[in-house]
Amino acid sequence: MICPNDGTEMHQVKIVAHYGQPIIVDQCQICGGIWFDEAELFRARQGEADRIEMLDADIARAPSMIEESELLCPRDRAVMLQFADRYFPQDIILVHCRLCSGIWLNRGGFVQYQRFRQGLLQRSQQKSAADKRRAEIKKLVESYESGRITGTLRKLGEFLSTPADRGVFTSLGAILWIIDQISN
Ligand SMILES: [Zn+2]
Ligand SMILES: [Zn+2]
Repeated sequence: MICPNDGTEMHQVKIVAHYGQPIIVDQCQICGGIWFDEAELFRARQGEADRIEMLDADIARAPSMIEESELLCPRDRAVMLQFADRYFPQDIILVHCRLCSGIWLNRGGFVQYQRFRQGLLQRSQQKSAADKRRAEIKKLVESYESGRITGTLRKLGEFLSTPADRGVFTSLGAILWIIDQISN
């Protein structure tokens, strides 16, 4: 397959998908761009970019090759379009073919994309942890309001991972103060 940037015959490079299946992508040894068929980019396991991107000092000094306004798909020669979405980072230049759904990434783009995805995953994990914590707090408040104070204090103690002293938390104010501390 021919590189859309410089017409060089690209090399096939094996990378690993999420569940360990191999994916063969095409990488240009001259400009460092990588071609992904269909959803290969999204299936690539985290960390594969760091493994295969040619980001050594010499290559990093070379100018970026995507400067042409029109790149042709290496599969079907259709004009490729730059992907733009307000949630997608502007500094990652992702060019795609609407005919075959292939994706072309400039040198360094694969690493940038995987770092972006890693950030999204971390944020969603933090969010689900926060949601879980909010749900636990809600249960505690409902438990207190239903009058099961002993159970509430025990659960609150478990929640804080410290033994609850029943003599200390006897008022709703104290519990609300703790809940406030937990939820911040
Ligand atoms: Zn190239
Ligand atoms: Zn195509």
